[in-house]
Amino acid sequence: MSFFDPHVHMTSRTTDDYQAMADAGIVALIEPSFWLGQPRTGVDSFKDYFSSLVGWERFRSSQFGIKHYCTIGLNSREANNEALAEQVMEVLPLFMYKDGVVGIGEIGFDDQTPLEEKYYRLQLELAKEANLPVQIHTPHRDKKRGTQRSMDIAIEHGIDPTMVIVDHNNEETVKDVLNKGFWAAFTIYPFTKMGNQRMVEITKQFGPERIMINSAADWGISDPLAVPKTAALMKQQGISVDDIRLVTYQNAITAFAQSGQIDESDFTSGIDQSIKFEGNSILRGGQQPRINKSSIIIR
Ligand SMILES: [Zn+2]
Repeated sequence: MSFFDPHVHMTSRTTDDYQAMADAGIVALIEPSFWLGQPRTGVDSFKDYFSSLVGWERFRSSQFGIKHYCTIGLNSREANNEALAEQVMEVLPLFMYKDGVVGIGEIGFDDQTPLEEKYYRLQLELAKEANLPVQIHTPHRDKKRGTQRSMDIAIEHGIDPTMVIVDHNNEETVKDVLNKGFWAAFTIYPFTKMGNQRMVEITKQFGPERIMINSAADWGISDPLAVPKTAALMKQQGISVDDIRLVTYQNAITAFAQSGQIDESDFTSGIDQSIKFEGNSILRGGQQPRINKSSIIIR
């Protein structure tokens, strides 16, 4: 089977992760803009980060045969630094119209502060203007209220729920999100967000419509293979291949392709490790490039 991971922070992952993901059948992914653990001290580090998401990281992914997309946004944590947030808002339009940008994200609430709300609203307006999908990060603390508020505010700004992917859902939030017509994304993340087995139960209970699964793998203890592993568990426990395909591949494509940026035929364009990005390569002294241009392996 082929998989699409619509939320994974590859900037913080290794080449071994890329290789393992490709081997497990992941053909495409979305890297949302987020914070880096270490708070940024100036707008230039945002610029370099956004440039990397549409440049170097996309190149690195291509070297393993994985199509890389991203979402661009000011994350909720750093929205709390108002002086910096103002500067970031000014540079977002320079990046959100670039090739391969499939949405504004991940944005929304973390601690549910007034500043988070301010920049969430401003970015909803940017998304509306650009007609781009919105990828919402929901808070870990007081999740139910934060999720509810995120949806209410999106509706208040006149954004169609079909253009909004609400992320990091759990058993408490899923019903409401689906009933209101939004996409419900689930992050399979050790210990905090959602487990594989719970995800199987949710899919059995709610069916596959408008549900998608991601790993949100980042610089913390997380699993870039969470999507294929959950698919395997679903298969073991009797969920149909058609339904598994919807929640681990197709729904994410349908939702984010509303950006006009996703073409499935790009997923199988093969690997050419002889090419470079601005003079840089993933190869080190003596390593031979892998060239597999005509590969259309569907695992
Ligand atoms: Zn994330």
